[in-house]
Amino acid sequence: MSESAYETVIGLEVHAQLATATKMFCGCATGFGAPPNTQTCPVCQGMPGSLPVINRRAIEFGIKTSLALGCAVNVRNRFARKHYYYPDMPKNYQISQYEEPLAEHGLLAIASGDGTRDIRVQRLHLEEDVGKLVHEGTLETAAASQVDFNRAGVPLMEIVSHPDLRSPEEAAAYLRALRAILIYLRVCDGNMEEGSMRCDANVSLRPRGVAELGTKIEIKNLNSFRNVQHALEYEVVRQARALDAGERLVQETRLWDPRPGPDRLHALEGVRPRLPLLPGAGPAAPSRGAPVDRRDQRKACPSCRRRAARASRWPTVSRPTTPSSSPRGGDWPTTSRRRRAPTASRRSSPTGS
Ligand SMILES: [Zn+2]
Repeated sequence: MSESAYETVIGLEVHAQLATATKMFCGCATGFGAPPNTQTCPVCQGMPGSLPVINRRAIEFGIKTSLALGCAVNVRNRFARKHYYYPDMPKNYQISQYEEPLAEHGLLAIASGDGTRDIRVQRLHLEEDVGKLVHEGTLETAAASQVDFNRAGVPLMEIVSHPDLRSPEEAAAYLRALRAILIYLRVCDGNMEEGSMRCDANVSLRPRGVAELGTKIEIKNLNSFRNVQHALEYEVVRQARALDAGERLVQETRLWDPRPGPDRLHALEGVRPRLPLLPGAGPAAPSRGAPVDRRDQRKACPSCRRRAARASRWPTVSRPTTPSSSPRGGDWPTTSRRRRAPTASRRSSPTGS
C-alpha cells in the first residue's frame, strides 16, 4: 500500500499568548525580550504564601475568541493545578483549566481544495505559560542550562480542534485562519517567531473507509506554518511506510528538527509513560447539579462563622495584592481585603501588620 491507501487524521492544539500587559495571575509585565528574570515576582515564582489573582482582561480576551469561533461559553468554568516537575516551572504545577474549560463546541471554516470546510473546535481554555530553559544545543548534551522565568505566568489560551483535518495542507490552512482571527480581535499578536503562537499536532493514519482511528503520534512545539506542514508531511510518510511494513505504531511524542537529517522527528523520551498509575487518581467528576448557595455553605461552616464574626469587628482597608515593586499594567485589577485581626505575636511587632 502507499500513502494514498490511508486517510490522514490530524487534530491541532494551539497555544496563543494573550496580548495582555500583565501576566495571568500577577502584575508582572509580559513584554518580549527583557533581560532574564527581570519580569518576575513572588506569585509567578511560586513563593510560599503568595496567592494568584486572575487577570480580568485575559478572561475577556478568551470570551471574545470563544464567541468568534462560535463556541458555547461556560458560565461556570474552573481552574485546576496540573502537577508535574520540570525545572522551568517554579511552582511544580501549572494553573490550567481541565474538566470545566472556558468554552466548548465551536467551528472554524478553512480553505480546502476549491471550497471551504468547517473544522470543529473541541474546547478553548485558559492557562499560564512556564519559564524557559536556555542552553547550547540540546538539553541532553549541553554542559549547563540556565532558566529564565520571565515567561512563567504569561497568559495562554489553548484552542483544541477535533481530529477533523485530513492533510498537512489543511492543518496549515487551519492555523492561518485561526491566526487571522486572533490578530483581528487583537487578543494575540500572532508572532510565531517570538512564541506567541505554538502548536502541538496529533496525527494518525487509518486505511480508507475504516472508521476506527489509528495510533496517534503527538508532535510538540511547532512554531511556524512551514514547520507544521513539513513535520506532518514527514510523519505521514513515516507512518505509511511503517504500516506497509507491518509494524505496530506506538503512541508517543516526537519533536520536529527543521534541519535536514536522517531523523527529523525524533521520539521524546517522556517521563509520563514511566509513571505508575495511582489508585483512585482519576479526574474529579464535573459538577452538574443545582447551583450551590455559598451563603448556606458559610452558615454551615463553624470556622467561616468565626471568621465572619472577627472580620465584622475590624474596618476594611484597600491594599494591593502584590508587592509595590511589581510593575503594574492597565489590566491588573486592585481589590480590597479585610484586615485580619491582630494576633499576639503581631501586637508585639509594630511593623508586622
Ligand atoms: Zn509575577
